[in-house]
Amino acid sequence: MKRPMDPSEEARRLESDAKEEILSAKSLEDLEAVRVKYLGRKGLLTGLLRKLGEAGPDERRELGRFLNAAKSALSAEIDARKAALKAARDEASLHEESVDITLPGRAREIGSRHPTIKMMREIMEVFLGMGFTSIEGPEIETEYNNFDALNTPEWHPSRDEHDSFYVADGLVLRTHTSPAQIRVMKSQPAPVRVIVPGRCHRRDTPDASHVISFYQVEGLYVDYEVSMADLKGTLAAFAREIFGTETRVRFRPHFFPFTEPSAELDISCLVCGGKGCRLCKNSGWVEVLGCGMVHPNVFRHAGYDPRSVTGFAFGMGVERLALLKYGIENMRVLYDNDLRFLKQFQGMHA
Ligand SMILES: [Zn+2]
Repeated sequence: MKRPMDPSEEARRLESDAKEEILSAKSLEDLEAVRVKYLGRKGLLTGLLRKLGEAGPDERRELGRFLNAAKSALSAEIDARKAALKAARDEASLHEESVDITLPGRAREIGSRHPTIKMMREIMEVFLGMGFTSIEGPEIETEYNNFDALNTPEWHPSRDEHDSFYVADGLVLRTHTSPAQIRVMKSQPAPVRVIVPGRCHRRDTPDASHVISFYQVEGLYVDYEVSMADLKGTLAAFAREIFGTETRVRFRPHFFPFTEPSAELDISCLVCGGKGCRLCKNSGWVEVLGCGMVHPNVFRHAGYDPRSVTGFAFGMGVERLALLKYGIENMRVLYDNDLRFLKQFQGMHA
C-alpha cells in the first residue's frame, strides 16, 4: 500500500517545480500562468496552505512556516523574472525601431505669409510709420455707405463699374474699402488719419489683372488745413518707400466721384526704368493707386462741415502692387494655391 505523501516533502517538491517553471517561462503570459498555477486562489501552494488544518500541531507550525517562506520566495522569483522578461521585450522593440542616425533629417515645412498679405503688411507699415492708425470695416456694407454716401447715387455712371454682389436688399459685399471713410468720420470728429486694409468683391471677369475678391488699402486724412500738397508729399514718400528711392512719381488727373480733384499716381516703370517696355505698354509709367481731395458731398454725408475741414483719400489694390513689386505677370497665380509659386516668398520680409 502506498503511504500518503509527507506534506512537507510535497511542499518542497512543489517549491522546486515552481522555481523551475518560473525560470523557464519565455513570456510574461507564460509567467502569469505559472503564478496562477502555484500562487493563485486555487493554486497548488495555496491548496497546501489550506490543508494545514489537517496536520498535527507541531507539524502545522513547521509546515506553515515553510509554506509561507516558500510563498514569498516564489513571489520574489516571479517579480524578478517578470522584470527580466520586460527588459528583454523592451530591448527587442527598441531594436525593431532602431534609428539610422546617418539618414538626413526630415525637413519640417514652415508656412509663410501669402504674397498678398506680405504686400498689405508692407503698405501698412509705411503708413503706420507716418502716424496713420489702422482700422477695419465690415465686408458686408450698406449700399448707402458703399455708394450713396461716397457721392455715387443710383444714377451715377461709375456705379456700373462696380458690378456688385448683393447680399440682401440694400446690402452689398463692399466693392472697395472706401465706405470705412464714412464709418470713421461718423464715429469721431476731425482730425482723422486712418488706413483701412481689407477684402473687397466685384463681379469682374477674372483675367490677368482682375480677380473677384481682392484686397485694398484705403487711406483717409482729414484735418483743418490739409492740401493737395500734403497728398502729393505723403503718397510720393509712400511710393519711394515701397518701390525704392530712385522711383519717380507723377500725378495724373483722373475722376472719382468721392474726390475732387482726383488723380492717379504713376511710378516710373520698375522693369525698364522709364524707357518703355511690355509691362508699361511702352509709356515708361505704371499706375499704382487712385487718390484725391475728399469731395464736399462726402463730408456732408459723414456729418462733417466741408467749410471747415479738408482732407485727402487714397485707395490701392494690394494685388496690383504685389504684381509690380514682385514682378508677377498674372494676378491669378496669387490665388491658384500652387506651392511652387508660393514657396518663392518664404522667408521674405513682412
Ligand atoms: Zn516699362
